[in-house]
Amino acid sequence: MRNKIIIGNWKMNKTPKEALELISTLKPLVENSEAEVVFCVPFVDIPCAVEALKGSSISVGAQNMHFEDSGAFTGEVSPGMLYELGVEYVIIGHSERRQYFAETDETVNKKVLKAFEYELIPIICCGETLEQREEGITMDWIKNQIVKAFENVPKENAMTAIVAYEPIWAIGTGKVATSEQAEEVCGHIRNVLREIYDDETAEEIRIQYGGSVNGANAKELLSMEDIDGGLVGGAALKADFANIVNYNK
Ligand code: PEP
Repeated sequence: MRNKIIIGNWKMNKTPKEALELISTLKPLVENSEAEVVFCVPFVDIPCAVEALKGSSISVGAQNMHFEDSGAFTGEVSPGMLYELGVEYVIIGHSERRQYFAETDETVNKKVLKAFEYELIPIICCGETLEQREEGITMDWIKNQIVKAFENVPKENAMTAIVAYEPIWAIGTGKVATSEQAEEVCGHIRNVLREIYDDETAEEIRIQYGGSVNGANAKELLSMEDIDGGLVGGAALKADFANIVNYNK
């Protein structure tokens, strides 16, 4: 039985001081919930978030990392730096990184492989544009993204990965996918993982939906068979995040 996991993607929001304020609001509302909870905070907020969440059930994640161990990559952050700070999860290939920072399926794969070397759990993002959905190529597009992201990833690592299906047209737009649309693609992702690996692995990997999830729509989305959680942007910065985490109460 896959346990649900709700991940807040804070994006480029909250200074360290503001992060501590948000954590003190959210922590009592979401800790010890049935679902696992992760806050993916900006790099500079990681030390104070790790400290503030020490001993709680909430984990800290990063929103990106480089695929090399170290070197002349000005402005980048390495997986070892994240690991040493106590980071457990890292978002890889978010559509905003693909769109604004030229990330490709190839760099996503390199980052996924490197994350596992540092015991970081990758949250691998995939998703189609509105044009692609209208053209009817969503399933092929997603399959390609998943196949490339998992290239050379051994089964025992793949089993711990998280996949986030985030239709680009639903991110930050308030336009949420219907639970049927989200389930159709999440089920497809599981089938692709079954083809790459096997039943056991595909049944183990947690697949999230992301895109305008909020306290009002979470219950319906999270009750779908292949949706094992949510990657949450805008609503992760508000007390409404607790309604998502506690969707079945
Ligand atoms: C996201 O950025 O991963 C996201 C899903 O954002 P939002 O919830 O705001 O649509």
